Amino acid sequence: MGPEQGAEFTALEQCKLRAAERIQEECGCLSTLSRDIWSRPELAYKEQQAHDTLTQFFSCRGVWLVEPRYKLDTAFRAQWTSSLSDKESEPLHIGFLCEYDALPSLGHACGHNLIAEVGAAAALGLQGALECMRPPRPVKITVLGTPAEEDGGGKIDLIEAGAFVDMHVVFMAHPAQEDAPYLPAVAIHDVTVKYYGKASHAAAYPWEGVNALDAAILAYNNLSVLRQQMKPTWRVHGIIKNGGVKPNIIPAYSELEFYLRAPSLKELAELKEKADACFKAAAAATGCRVEFSSSDHDYYNVLQNKTLAKTYVENGKKLGMQFAADNLASNSFSGSTDFGNVSFVVPGIHPYFYIGSDALNHTEQYTEAAGSKEAQFYTLRTAKALAMTAIDVIFKPDLLANVCEDFKLIKLIEEGNISVTEKSRDSSGGAGCASR
Ligand SMILES: [Zn+2]
Ligand SMILES: [Zn+2]
Repeated sequence: MGPEQGAEFTALEQCKLRAAERIQEECGCLSTLSRDIWSRPELAYKEQQAHDTLTQFFSCRGVWLVEPRYKLDTAFRAQWTSSLSDKESEPLHIGFLCEYDALPSLGHACGHNLIAEVGAAAALGLQGALECMRPPRPVKITVLGTPAEEDGGGKIDLIEAGAFVDMHVVFMAHPAQEDAPYLPAVAIHDVTVKYYGKASHAAAYPWEGVNALDAAILAYNNLSVLRQQMKPTWRVHGIIKNGGVKPNIIPAYSELEFYLRAPSLKELAELKEKADACFKAAAAATGCRVEFSSSDHDYYNVLQNKTLAKTYVENGKKLGMQFAADNLASNSFSGSTDFGNVSFVVPGIHPYFYIGSDALNHTEQYTEAAGSKEAQFYTLRTAKALAMTAIDVIFKPDLLANVCEDFKLIKLIEEGNISVTEKSRDSSGGAGCASR
């Protein structure tokens, strides 16, 4: 490294330091923001108070252009652009996402109040840093409030409405049990299955009936048998929502609700086909009519951006984060998120972070942990690591080029144009033992 490069390096580190300082200066307001959202949990698409708290948080800072109810009733957008001296160059557009919906009866058991805080904090940190150090090209920062992650998929609505169209890189982070740059969040499809049979007296003339409960039971068992032949990374789980009204009436109607999950859209399509066959076979066996319906939005699997993940780990380590050697969390299977759909349209990162507790997401203990004082240190540390990663992307054009290259490549792999996934799995020799 020559003296000039050394000076650049120091300037970049100074810039990162400034981002972290700015976040620390705002720690009181940020903790209040998160606590306000936590103490008034609201369900998907109904996050009115969280929306107001967040939009006020940015409005009162003056320099942010805030658009409440941006494209959705409880979404918002806050933007800041660095001075545009060079009118010719298009700004580099960096997005930070905030989630803020809660769970029925459990409150903020997934810690989305902390996701909102991380997004707001990282954006403030980056803005503070860019005020002190002029970026090589203008930068636009967008904080996008994305409602309804737990149910419905607000990010998918926002993608469809064009909210991500000109973003270059997008950042968010999710509370978990440890720090990890990536977890292979899987694609999910939900299906409601309705069987229509015929009621009849169950003792006097049962042969006149068509038993819809039997169809539901057969479907449930067909899927249980299928599970034996499923890949270990697939998940099928469901409930019987309606199984008849009275023992002496042959059930004329039954209803099941199932979630199907797989690590890629391609495998999810395979799984859907197999599950469909299970449902239809049950209808054929019992003589019932079957109807299917699904919610509008399938969540896609999250595409990993290795360059962003590596940069995040480097910055996180400087702040004292500890990562597993392979950068994967110890439970490398996770649920699903609508960030998956975002990862198909914009290069991005969705790391997980420790919040000072071993409690598991979607439990009462996690609700408590997400509202605790202890979580604040870890939440702000994560925001700092995200802001520092954004600074690397802004000040290192080669890094941005690699981020874009990774994005293109992973999409090609996902779409099946390159069979790298299969090849690397075969050559690793671990998972697939052919003998019993
Ligand atoms: Zn959750
Ligand atoms: Zn969550």
